[in-house]
Amino acid sequence: MPEDMGGAHPVDSVISAARKLLGERISTNRNIREQHAHGEDTQPHVLPDAVAFVENSEEVARLLGLCHSAGVPVTAFGAGTSLEGHVTPVLSGITLDLSRMRRVLEVNAADMDCFVEAGVTRQQLNAHLRDQGLFFPVDPGSECTIGGMCATRASGTNAVRYGTIRDNVLGLTVALADGRLIRTGGRVRKSSTGYDLTRLFIGSEGTLGVITEIGLRLHGIPEAIVSAACQFPMLSGAVETVVSVMQAGIPVARIELLDEVQMRASIAYSNLPGLAEIPTLFFEFHGTPVAVAEQVRVTEEIARDCGAERFTQAADAEARAHLWKARHDAYWAALALQPGCRILTADAIVPISRLTEAVLASREAITASGLTGAILGHVGDGNFHTVIIVPSEPDGLARAWALDRTIVGIALGLGGSCSGEHGVGIGKRQFLEAEHGQEALAVMRAIKSALDPRGILNPGKIFPDQTNPGVIAVA
Ligand SMILES: Cc1cc2nc3c(=O)[nH]c(=O)nc-3n(C[C@H](O)[C@H](O)[C@H](O)COP(=O)(O)OP(=O)(O)OC[C@H]3O[C@@H](n4cnc5c(N)ncnc54)[C@H](O)[C@@H]3O)c2cc1C
Repeated sequence: MPEDMGGAHPVDSVISAARKLLGERISTNRNIREQHAHGEDTQPHVLPDAVAFVENSEEVARLLGLCHSAGVPVTAFGAGTSLEGHVTPVLSGITLDLSRMRRVLEVNAADMDCFVEAGVTRQQLNAHLRDQGLFFPVDPGSECTIGGMCATRASGTNAVRYGTIRDNVLGLTVALADGRLIRTGGRVRKSSTGYDLTRLFIGSEGTLGVITEIGLRLHGIPEAIVSAACQFPMLSGAVETVVSVMQAGIPVARIELLDEVQMRASIAYSNLPGLAEIPTLFFEFHGTPVAVAEQVRVTEEIARDCGAERFTQAADAEARAHLWKARHDAYWAALALQPGCRILTADAIVPISRLTEAVLASREAITASGLTGAILGHVGDGNFHTVIIVPSEPDGLARAWALDRTIVGIALGLGGSCSGEHGVGIGKRQFLEAEHGQEALAVMRAIKSALDPRGILNPGKIFPDQTNPGVIAVA
């Protein structure tokens, strides 16, 4: 059950002032507060005192101004799909739900850019763009908001070719902790003026400001698209193929690994005819028909050299959509392996030359732990996920977190990072010092205090020493 920590803050005056601004759109209803007490993670739930459903930048700014004056914590909430306890309002206070800010404000086809409100999802944006021959490529496997993607510095299957959200944002409108609204960046593709405030807010997890509007780069839908599935008797062959394809400079649009456990789950959940429960790579190639045919030919040659048993192509849109829907549903497929259990997802990343070591060592660690876990990931970037089923026994969560720590240790030992795309939240705070060093963390803290001197924005996240009474990462 969520822990009710209401009453610890002077929030009642903020709620009544906010009611004058938002009317019924600020709610203290228990069901609504419970929906905002957690994300898709294994951290303990904490109820906010109230949830405000904001509809524009000015409302966000005015609410922040009220909370700043009263010293009340504020947690931004997009779709709540984050995986490390990011949206848990550890000191209660007000949760700002941005999911009603769903307007696509402007599309400039000639400049290949657009402006959206923070609550727009990538699926909604791509449906809006479809008739204009343009698309937005950053594609986490969840129905999340573009504001949330900016705040977590998200990526997805296309990042190997099109970059992460960081590479696709032109500028932001941000409400600061004290209620000021600022604009960062602009519409040009590059600029060398001033500090790069846009990149400062990307990945700041709602701790430096609340993003309300976003300018995005768009891309032309490629003339030819071909997908392929390639299967291997050994996991090592699949990973070696990835490394060789990347080192050969083949401009793959997507290259995704699913190990044998994930394939078992995905075949059962998504029905993938013709594919066996063995390590598999899903590819996608974009370009002109001639360029794509050449990319496919060289990739198949490399895969066969690494021991691939079969390599099947799909050019028709329906077959491709099915393959990628199955990949995006991998998390739900893994969850269905043991109905009723929760999942802990690790998100390590290593330099591409160390990927084989990292994946094989992680596979061994999963086997040695006695837990059920799958490996999958956006391996073209060196990023892989371990999806660990949390056993229902009393020590199940602690065992799953111990395995997560082992896998992070493997990645850090190989010059990697504890998170390629999911972010820090609560779950990865303990690794920040090992990864960045004390001095770099001190600079990050100085930035936090300059922009949020009263510490109201998403407290208890990112910094390892900001512990709190409500939530502890299971150690
Ligand atoms: C099935 C599944 C698959 C996933 N696959 C991927 C993947 O492939 N790649 C990937 O990167 N992630 C993935 N994720 C993780 C998650 O979807 C991303 O982290 C996503 O970017 C979170 O967006 P959201 O709208 O749900 O944000 P939330 O979970 O609501 O919030 C996340 C964080 O951002 C802050 N925040 C939200 N909106 C704003 C805003 N407008 N301004 C300031 N701060 C804000 C919140 O306070 C919180 O700290 C997956 C999750 C699931 C459940």
